[in-house]
Amino acid sequence: MTDRLFTEDTLVIATHNAGKMREIKALFAGFGINILSASELGLDEPDETDTSFIGNALLKARAAAMSAGQPALADDSGLCVTALDGAPGIYSARWAGPKRDFSLAMTAVETALAKTGNGDSGAEFVCALALVWPDGDEVCVEGRVKGQITFPRRGKHGFGYDPIFQPDGYQISFGEMDPDAKHAISHRADAFAQLLARCFGNADGG
Ligand code: IMP
Repeated sequence: MTDRLFTEDTLVIATHNAGKMREIKALFAGFGINILSASELGLDEPDETDTSFIGNALLKARAAAMSAGQPALADDSGLCVTALDGAPGIYSARWAGPKRDFSLAMTAVETALAKTGNGDSGAEFVCALALVWPDGDEVCVEGRVKGQITFPRRGKHGFGYDPIFQPDGYQISFGEMDPDAKHAISHRADAFAQLLARCFGNADGG
């Protein structure tokens, strides 16, 4: 089955997370699409009740598309640590507590990893994207980037768990990486490349 091509001029990004919004806007630069965020439109955030990244991205995109009457794109992403059986995974935001304190979340990862004592620091960031049209058409993709958890935290760029994630093939953390360099290799970039190829025809944004 052929995927539906995105031909509209406005796309709602179903997120209230400023860090994600910044990265998504950068990825769409040059496409000539008017990008609006769910917070700008005053849309509510649905509870993330699903048990998978794709399921939660779909929940968020469906809610935004229905409320706004416009196509909506949602990202559900997180850090999956191998030695923690994939945790924090879909609960990555929740590990930061109600105040979204990622210092707390990174300490929780460090403590949990130390408790396993098995020395495996392998991890991956996963990003699911769901594009939903108000008439019910849906396209989902999942991107990933593999790497290692490293302590102490390094770098001030990015957001969330970036200071403790070092992508494979690099000696610096996402937190130390220039934002453009992160955008070129991240889980979000991988998912975007897949989405662009399927729904946006011209994948170079030209
Ligand atoms: P959710 O997708 O809104 O449930 O939140 C996912 C959480 O995963 C974010 O709040 C971040 O903590 C974390 N996360 C997702 N992508 C990234 C990233 O690119 N860098 C650092 N942390 C991320």
